[in-house]
Amino acid sequence: MSDEGLGFEHMGLDPRLLQAVTDLGWSRPTLIQEKAIPLALEGKDLLARARTGSGKTAAYAIPMLQLLLHRKATGPVVEQAVRGLVLVPTKELAKQAQSMIQQLVAYCSRDIRVADVSAAEDAAAQRTVLVEKPDIVVGTPSRILSHLQQDNLKLRDSLELLVVDEADLLFSFGFEEELKNLLCHLPRIYQAFLMSATFNEDVQALKELVLHNPVILKLQESQLPGPDQLQQFQVVCETEEDKFLLLYALLKLSLIQGKSLLFVNTLERSYRLRLFLEQFSIPACVLNGELPLRSRCHIIAQFNQGLYDCVIATDAEVLGNPFKGKRRGRGAKGDRASDPEAGVARGIDFHQVSLVLNFDLPPTPEAYIHRAGRTARANNPGIVLTFVLPTEQAHLGKIEEQLSGENGAPVLLPYQFQMEEIEGFRYRCRDAMRSVTKQGIREARLKEVKEELLRSEKLKTYFEDNPRDLQLLRHDLPLHPAIVKPQLGHVPDYLVPPTLRGVIHPHKKRKKPSSSHRKVKKGKTQNPLRSFKHQGQKLRPAKNPS
Ligand code: AMP
Repeated sequence: MSDEGLGFEHMGLDPRLLQAVTDLGWSRPTLIQEKAIPLALEGKDLLARARTGSGKTAAYAIPMLQLLLHRKATGPVVEQAVRGLVLVPTKELAKQAQSMIQQLVAYCSRDIRVADVSAAEDAAAQRTVLVEKPDIVVGTPSRILSHLQQDNLKLRDSLELLVVDEADLLFSFGFEEELKNLLCHLPRIYQAFLMSATFNEDVQALKELVLHNPVILKLQESQLPGPDQLQQFQVVCETEEDKFLLLYALLKLSLIQGKSLLFVNTLERSYRLRLFLEQFSIPACVLNGELPLRSRCHIIAQFNQGLYDCVIATDAEVLGNPFKGKRRGRGAKGDRASDPEAGVARGIDFHQVSLVLNFDLPPTPEAYIHRAGRTARANNPGIVLTFVLPTEQAHLGKIEEQLSGENGAPVLLPYQFQMEEIEGFRYRCRDAMRSVTKQGIREARLKEVKEELLRSEKLKTYFEDNPRDLQLLRHDLPLHPAIVKPQLGHVPDYLVPPTLRGVIHPHKKRKKPSSSHRKVKKGKTQNPLRSFKHQGQKLRPAKNPS
């Protein structure tokens, strides 16, 4: 974000868009918005490298809306038609993009209608929506192509603006063929924006296919925000058990403030962790690609509203094993999600995440970056805490190599916990770890999928009619209540590390992040790990060695 750059109010935007931007609390455009919006308004095609969290959705949505509004207000009266198309690689991203656009058209929703047609299960309802010819359609290439082939959607005579978001992922998700077929249904001339986190060969190929003489925006942004906004730490855990012990202590002693995303490497591990935390009455949700889309979106929405403090996610199937071009043949093997469009980590906008905790070391540097990108978004501060086993340190070194700045300064600072202070918790931790068996995990996983399917289908109409009741539907209730020992939910005083006595109150309910958290300015970061505040305590990060 630049200090002296062009503000939204100087971009010649429709007052209704400006009002929506104000309501969203955006005081200044982000760097990508500042550069992309004026160029897009001039009618240029754009190829923009933008990391998630950079504000890229609004960078294409604002000019798209401005152009459509301008056309409606000043152009000749023409038939209602679909004039904007946004292609995204996953259903969650489609929902997110649609919701962002919807917020931006809050004051002109009669003039501009937006439809998300990404959920395969809603094909019939989508047909009805498409009959109305919404101004903007958002969807995955496969769903859009399917509607084009069935003549539910016609773009050849009307499309004016095409957006390809997360372009690099579209190819690695195996959408290449669909994308090429889809392009045959578009007119010869349209304006196009291609947004991508990386500029790889696939993006080059896509550039040739959809862009005409584009302006290329390779903004001088590092892959992650700087240390004044994003603090990154590593904790060396001697054993697997230590990882569970440390997490248990951090959460139970309320040393983590705000919302956290816990990343593990497999779905099995997600449920292991969830059932483990459940033993201590620490609620957490698992974001699982096997769950119906409605449930996944509901979990993200509730997390964003502050209903949950902890969400456990995995990115293994998306980021660890790119399955280029093999989407069709990919079954629900092992821990891979059965739904290839069910991307969770990449691009999804989790709001106000204070902490990303790599409970398992990310499989690749890219996975690290994408996980870390879930926090410190827009102007908010954030922390990434990575647990590492001694045997994994070489691997972490490789990740660090990719992250370190030009001066080679270490990026992941050591966070030295005094493990002996939480030794008292070990017995309980072991007990809880033993209670979580493979069989228990299988059952819990199955139970949750079954329950969520039931909710998703049977209760759909009910919740459509009674949206308030949807708030009461929680996804973090115990999966295995029979084996939860209520006494483990309490932390007796003697277990609280001496240095923390009187400072922390483990049984106090954690507060929702206050609105002030949202307004924290860059450079004035609030530290979500509460222990950081107590510099006299032992549970605190080591000083930056550099
Ligand atoms: P995106 O990169 O599009 O996923 O956006 C990341 C987050 O930044 C979203 O929560 C947006 O609401 C937020 N955002 C977008 N533009 C701005 C802005 N100009 N100022 C503050 N927040 C923004």
